[in-house]
Amino acid sequence: MEMTRREIIQSLAVAGVAAAVSGTANASLAATVQDLPLAAILTDPTVPQPIEDGLGATDPGPRNVTLDRLNLDMLTPPMTDAGDMPNLKFSFSNVPMRLTDGGWTRQVTQVELPIATAISGVDMRLKPGAIRELHWHKEAEWAYMLNGTAQVTCLDTEGRNFVENVGVGDLWYFPSGYPHSIQALEEGCEFLLAFNDGTFSENDTFLLSDWFAHTPKEVLAKNFGVPQSDFRQLPSPAQRYIYPGKVPGPPSSVRVSDPYGTSPQSFIYHLLAQKPIQARGGTLRIVDSSTFPVSTTIAAVWQEIEPGGLREMHWHPKDDEWQYYLEGSGRMTVFAAKGTARTFDYQAGDVGYVPANMGHYIENRGKTPLRFLALFRTSHYADVSLSQWMAVTPPELVQGDLNLPQEVMNALPKEKTLIV
Ligand code: MN
Ligand code: MN
Repeated sequence: MEMTRREIIQSLAVAGVAAAVSGTANASLAATVQDLPLAAILTDPTVPQPIEDGLGATDPGPRNVTLDRLNLDMLTPPMTDAGDMPNLKFSFSNVPMRLTDGGWTRQVTQVELPIATAISGVDMRLKPGAIRELHWHKEAEWAYMLNGTAQVTCLDTEGRNFVENVGVGDLWYFPSGYPHSIQALEEGCEFLLAFNDGTFSENDTFLLSDWFAHTPKEVLAKNFGVPQSDFRQLPSPAQRYIYPGKVPGPPSSVRVSDPYGTSPQSFIYHLLAQKPIQARGGTLRIVDSSTFPVSTTIAAVWQEIEPGGLREMHWHPKDDEWQYYLEGSGRMTVFAAKGTARTFDYQAGDVGYVPANMGHYIENRGKTPLRFLALFRTSHYADVSLSQWMAVTPPELVQGDLNLPQEVMNALPKEKTLIV
């Protein structure tokens, strides 16, 4: 089977991403991506041009060929795209890292992606033993472990403590204001954090060291019933936040006896251990407060779409969708009513966004599985399937609207297909 020009460019872009991630980017690939002389930009068949169906013209540059290869649906949008659409894509690669001696963190909030009012996200890495300082914040915190293992602690408002370990595919959820910490185990870890407010900033958290640094020493002495001199050695908050530490023992060995007992509610959930919903073109795992009771403000769907598969055309009646792409690549067209639609391409590490009620699909046009998380600021996940709606509506109405042949009407599924 001959590859289309678009497929060649896509596979090249994906190979470039894979090579960069594994650190094996070779000189020739780097050259094709970065150092193309002007003449080559117009003649190299792997350089995409804004030309489709006889429309458009070559782009001699200046241009960023690397970005063009990753955003082919910007360069040559489907002819069905139309109108002005807010930006619905932002890559974590386009935000600055905050580097510390214990790891790093970076965030995509409403500052970077203005449409994303409901949810903001943080990508955080901790070296083995490193500690994300004891802290709290007004937003609830939902997290998905991407790499490695960690130990988390939390305290509920009844004074009951909680310590557990989490690994890849596990979640945690800390309600608004509940104090907590995260510490990497032997292999270190990386996780995605999501907060139920697009304006949240990881720099606005209430830090234990910060409060101590900004409380008069005589008040600290009175509060804890010890001499002021005991607070001479307090570290600067600048040395905390994320800082190196020693790998802790198992939860059973570090748990402190608590007169109020241990929290009866679990703050963690093993999402990848959940039996997936098997759809024709992939799998889904849905987690909200019906399966993970503490998670009352964030619902999530972990989705895997096989090559060629399509998350069927659908929408969400109440909630915006905040996406985080884990593996592979996909494209999504968002329909915004008033004749407006726009198509975006996503790769691992990108954030996508769909405002409530806007129709959308997600298609895997790559050669490897597409895995992504869709998050919603709600206690219960909900969607409407276009084809299922049409299947169970009086056919005269559907045919009156669309003038469809009977074969299409016969093929409509009465159950949600989810991924075809
Ligand atoms: Mn936190
Ligand atoms: Mn959706």
